[in-house]
Amino acid sequence: MKLSPTKTLTISRNNSMWQRLQALTISLVASSSIIAFVPNYAYSQKDGAPSPMNYSEFLTKVKDKQVEKVDIDSTGLILEAELKDNRKVSVDLVVRDGNVELIKALKENKVDIGVKPIRQPSVFWQLASTLFLPVLLIFVLFFLFRKVNNAPGGPAQTLSFGKSRAKFSPEAKTGVIFDDVAGVDSAKEELQEVVTFLKQPDRFTAVGAKIPKGVLLVGPPGTGKTMLAKAIAGEAGVPFFSLSGSEFVEMFVGVGASRVRDLFQKAKENAPCIVFIDEIDAVGRQRGSGIGGGNDEREQTLNQLLTEMDGFQGNTGVIIIAATNRADVLDAALLRPGRFDRQITVDYPSCKGRLEILKVHARNKRIAESVSLDSIARRTPGFAGANLANLLNEAAILTARRRKEEITELEISDAIDRVTMGMSMRPMLDSSTKRLIAYHEVGHALLQTLIKDADPLEKVTIIPRSGGVGGFSRSVPNEEEGLYSRSWILANITVALGGRVVEEVVFGNAEVTSGAASDIQQVTRLAKYMVTQLGMSNLGLVAHADENDRNWWDNRPDYSSRIGIKIDREVRRIIKQCHELAKQIITENRNLCDRLADLLIETETIDGDDFLKIVAEYTTVPAKTREPIKF
Ligand code: ADP
Repeated sequence: MKLSPTKTLTISRNNSMWQRLQALTISLVASSSIIAFVPNYAYSQKDGAPSPMNYSEFLTKVKDKQVEKVDIDSTGLILEAELKDNRKVSVDLVVRDGNVELIKALKENKVDIGVKPIRQPSVFWQLASTLFLPVLLIFVLFFLFRKVNNAPGGPAQTLSFGKSRAKFSPEAKTGVIFDDVAGVDSAKEELQEVVTFLKQPDRFTAVGAKIPKGVLLVGPPGTGKTMLAKAIAGEAGVPFFSLSGSEFVEMFVGVGASRVRDLFQKAKENAPCIVFIDEIDAVGRQRGSGIGGGNDEREQTLNQLLTEMDGFQGNTGVIIIAATNRADVLDAALLRPGRFDRQITVDYPSCKGRLEILKVHARNKRIAESVSLDSIARRTPGFAGANLANLLNEAAILTARRRKEEITELEISDAIDRVTMGMSMRPMLDSSTKRLIAYHEVGHALLQTLIKDADPLEKVTIIPRSGGVGGFSRSVPNEEEGLYSRSWILANITVALGGRVVEEVVFGNAEVTSGAASDIQQVTRLAKYMVTQLGMSNLGLVAHADENDRNWWDNRPDYSSRIGIKIDREVRRIIKQCHELAKQIITENRNLCDRLADLLIETETIDGDDFLKIVAEYTTVPAKTREPIKF
């Protein structure tokens, strides 16, 4: 019975060791005690274990002369004994008085006393226990490292960060040709020359011409810059390397530069080829700019880029095409001849350009014959190629959802609303809010229809949109000239005030709502622009720095406070006069407003042409013949 606790203790000791080992593997908590356990565990497995015996029983055995021989271990804590009946026992020497009584008894009874050396663990166990934790740590760290590296969006290939991650098209097929990029004819013409350089370099080198090294495409996002670069590679049948400027700039100092080196090395091996660097402003900003004197790593990368561009001799056949939205922030050194000496602007497409782009994207869509791409192009000013592609795709999705065979005008119209105003929500239930929104929108639409210089109305709706839009009225801008007249801007200010004016006239000053907040912001911006930038006020032809153009360290305006007061006064005068005109028109047409608002509440949307017909029934002044606004 007495043996079992000791035995249990041994087992529990071993169990605890494994538990601790497991815990260590999981939590990586280093504890030196585990090392001590490993060899002990090894002993207890090896030894034929003597039976434990308690101290007093053993003393009695000594006194009864039943003990043949004892070995006390050198720590003086454990004693092993051979009894006369050949049994082996072990005794914990728990008595802390030097065991005087026991030693005396042993001597008196002439028991052979020996000392047992502490057994050293074998060299193997010593080595294993010393190396166990470090090796475990290394393994776990290695796996963690790999996992983090391979995680999506993680710093992939951290261990090979010096290598270029440029995507190389070994087949030299980007799959894009110039015909796929529409509405950017002048850019295409200029780039056609680059294609010829790549295809027939001899034609140019024979007469001593140097092939350009870099072409900078400047333009807003989504206008087709990447497509153009791909089209050059596609047309010339050369490989296409692509990477983004922000990829260059890395956390580790020097890595950006080595990546540039590596990229150029690869490019030279594959010449002739195109290297496309998107968002070059991420790496090519003016050096020494920014708070704190700039970013060392970025500058180092830029320097490397400049050196590499200088480094390859004129006609290696590597042409760098870079794209940016902000050519103004680029370092001058990057733009000097011999580097990105060709700048090509890729701007928002004109109405004709949009039509061309729509034709490209309509190629693989089933569109009803009744749909006029021309009318879509006119209704989408400010849309870039990417927006137009997205518009047709949205229309196709709507068509599929409605289980129709082809995309019709309705889907296109809904898609335009969706991409410009957000998702449509369920129509509002009849309520005073719905009524107010209807009047507000009718106010805008009516002025749009009656004021001579305002653009024609396309539609007015009170179907709510995601993002808190209660309704909207939209016009079709006439953008043939790309220039805006003073009366056009004033007409727009007046139309924008129409919503608030109706609220005042119909519901009274006390009932006006916050619904006109964005109208008022827009009106203020336009009036300020007229006064401070366009020289369209009594202040004369003087331009004053826009607030956005001011420096962060000196945010003061570049005009005196006296002029500041005059600017404010002019802005207010313009808005006040437009407000008065809007009020006059709405008051004159109060009955028409009621009729249109009732109809809008009922139908939720009124088309521009239908709106015009109703207006023509009521007003004594035929629509659009009202005199231009005079100031
Ligand atoms: P950017 O590089 O100027 O940001 P992209 O070339 O990446 O724009 O254009 C994104 C997508 O928009 C293209 O894949 C294409 O579908 C469409 N797109 C943009 N511009 C045009 C264009 N001029 N003609 C046809 N499609 C265009």
